[in-house]
Amino acid sequence: MLEYQAAKDLLINKTILVTGAGDGIGRAAAISFAKHGATVILLGKTVKKLEAVYDQIVQAGYPKPAIVPLDLKGATEQNYIDMAETIQEQFGHLDGALHNASLLGVLGPFEHISMDSVKEVMQVNVIAEIMMTRALLPIMKKAPKASLVFTSSGVGRQGRAFWGEYAISKFATEGMMQSIADEYEGSSLRVNSINPGATRTGMRANAYPAENPSTLKEPEDIMATYLYLMGDDSVDVNGQQLSAQ
Ligand code: NDP
Repeated sequence: MLEYQAAKDLLINKTILVTGAGDGIGRAAAISFAKHGATVILLGKTVKKLEAVYDQIVQAGYPKPAIVPLDLKGATEQNYIDMAETIQEQFGHLDGALHNASLLGVLGPFEHISMDSVKEVMQVNVIAEIMMTRALLPIMKKAPKASLVFTSSGVGRQGRAFWGEYAISKFATEGMMQSIADEYEGSSLRVNSINPGATRTGMRANAYPAENPSTLKEPEDIMATYLYLMGDDSVDVNGQQLSAQ
C-alpha cells in the first residue's frame, strides 16, 4: 500500500481520534491526518509528548487539534463514556478512530510468561480497545462515513515463538476488528486493521535491541495505508487486514 497517493484535502472536515498519538507511529499518523485536513484528537499517556505533537500541528498551520490525556491501563468505562460525550458536544460526531497505542509486554518462553505482564498487555491492547470502541460507536454511527482502524502486527496474523502475550493480544484485536466489521457490514461504518510492519520506533528498538534502526522505515514512510483507510477512497473496504509495507 506504500504507493497510494492521498489527495491534499483527503481528510478535510473530518474529526479523527488517534490513541498513542504522542510517539512513534501514532504521532506520525496524527500529524499526517492533520496535514491532510483533519482535526485530530490526540489521546495518550504522556501529556508532554501530546503537547509537543499539538504544537507541531498548530505551527504547521493545520487544523487545531484536541488533547485527551488518558492512561489506557487504568481508564474506566466511565472515562470512555465521558470522552465520547465531550467529542459529541464539541464535534457532533466522530469520523475516524485509530487504535494505535499498545504495549509490547515481555518477550520470552511461554512457560515463563508473568501473569502480571499478561494482564497489563491485555488491559492496554485489548480491554481498553473494547471499552473505547463501545463508547465511540454511537458517535461514529452519526458520521456520514466513518472509519475504525485497529493496529495489528505480523504476530497478530501468525503466532511466533517467544512473542506469546503480545501475539495473543494482537490476535484478539484482529478478532475484534472482524466481528465489528461483520456486524456493521453495509452501514456507514467500516472497520479494518493495519499491520505497520517493521518500523523505527521505541517499541521496535525494545523488541530488537541488536538491530540497526537505520535499516527500518520511519513512521512517516508508512502513512499511505493509514491515510487510505481514514479517507473516503476506502469507503467500500470493510473487515480487511491491510499491511502498511
Ligand atoms: P511506541 O512504543 O513507539 O508508541 C506507543 C504509543 O502508545 C506511545 O505513544 C505510548 O504513549 C502509547 N501508550 C502505551 N501505553 C499506553 C497507555 N497505557 N495509555 C495510553 N497510551 C499508551 O510504539 P509503535 O509506534 O512502534 O507502535 C504503534 C502500534 O504499532 C502498536 O499497536 C504496535 O503494536 C504496532 N506495531 C508496531 C511495529 C513496529 O515495528 N514499530 C510493528 C508491528 C506493529 P507514551 O509514549 O506516553 O508511553
